Amino acid sequence: MNIIRDLTLIANLATEREEENYDFRSFLKGKDDKKVDAIVHRLNEDISAQIDCTQCGNCCRSLMITLEKADTTRLSKHLGITKEDFEKKFVEKSAEDQTNIFNKIPCHFLDENKCTVYEARPNDCREFPHLHKPGFTSRLFSVIDNYGRCPIVFNVFEALKKRLRFKV
Ligand code: SF4
Ligand code: SF4
Repeated sequence: MNIIRDLTLIANLATEREEENYDFRSFLKGKDDKKVDAIVHRLNEDISAQIDCTQCGNCCRSLMITLEKADTTRLSKHLGITKEDFEKKFVEKSAEDQTNIFNKIPCHFLDENKCTVYEARPNDCREFPHLHKPGFTSRLFSVIDNYGRCPIVFNVFEALKKRLRFKV
């Protein structure tokens, strides 16, 4: 399949295909969750292997990252500072639910397209774009939200449309 990696093109196509994507969301709601998961997992493996995240970094430039306690412990240790100093410098509470989040977008730790704390990065970063998890059809709102941001999500979603012979 023809993989699209260009972020501007992907963002433009996301705007153009907004209605189509919401129609596909409704189409997917009627499908067998487990079968859709199995297809998405295979597509994700295949497409992720063809996309180099170090040439992209768009999630690190645009996402709000949530920090669990273990992330703060691991990152402060990795940086050789106390948890208190780490929180003072890099963390704030989200207005929505008061969870800890990084206080800057793009992320403090992004250098060009690379993560400078890769081995110690937060769990939230490790899990993105979440396509390896079960329950794809229950997360379609966030999938569509990430479609115009992440080349992996974009290409998996487009391949899924083809695979399921989705017609608009
Ligand atoms: S910690 Fe690393 S992977 Fe996570 S958002 Fe920052 S730069 Fe990206
Ligand atoms: S996960 Fe997606 S948005 Fe993030 S760097 Fe990789 S391709 Fe880009």
